[in-house]
Amino acid sequence: MGQKILVVEDNELNLKLFCDLLRAHGYEAQAVRDGREALASARAFAPQLVVMDIQMPHISGLELIEQMKADAELRATPIMAVTAYAARGDEERIRDAGAEGYVSKPISVVRFVEAVAALLAAAAEREAAAAAEAPGEEPPARENEPREDEPGEPGEEEGRE
Ligand code: MN
Repeated sequence: MGQKILVVEDNELNLKLFCDLLRAHGYEAQAVRDGREALASARAFAPQLVVMDIQMPHISGLELIEQMKADAELRATPIMAVTAYAARGDEERIRDAGAEGYVSKPISVVRFVEAVAALLAAAAEREAAAAAEAPGEEPPARENEPREDEPGEPGEEEGRE
């Protein structure tokens, strides 16, 4: 089973394009058409990556990115924003909101797939690094600790009455 990617996109053609592309590359894609369902879907699907449209009715992708990054359960999941606005200020706002990646529409198929793979690889590296530093492991043995091999008390007490 491939890695799971949640695709949040209100435009049916783009949604199909993104999902088809991802599936063709071995990913398991789940579509979300209504941004208001994005967080619940992300919790239920537990994807390794979220592809997030920015221009959507009801709730913008920008708000959703902020909400996901404020959510303890979802914040570690990388987000790749996809937007038709190519203005520099927009990219900055998207990055400030916490998106790890950014691709502008109309997408280049090659760039889209490369960006997905790069974000997944970076997330896997972060996870491996976090696991290596995780607490709960045996502390390293101390070598200069004095040994407790002094003779014990004699077993029998002497001089009992
Ligand atoms: Mn849209």
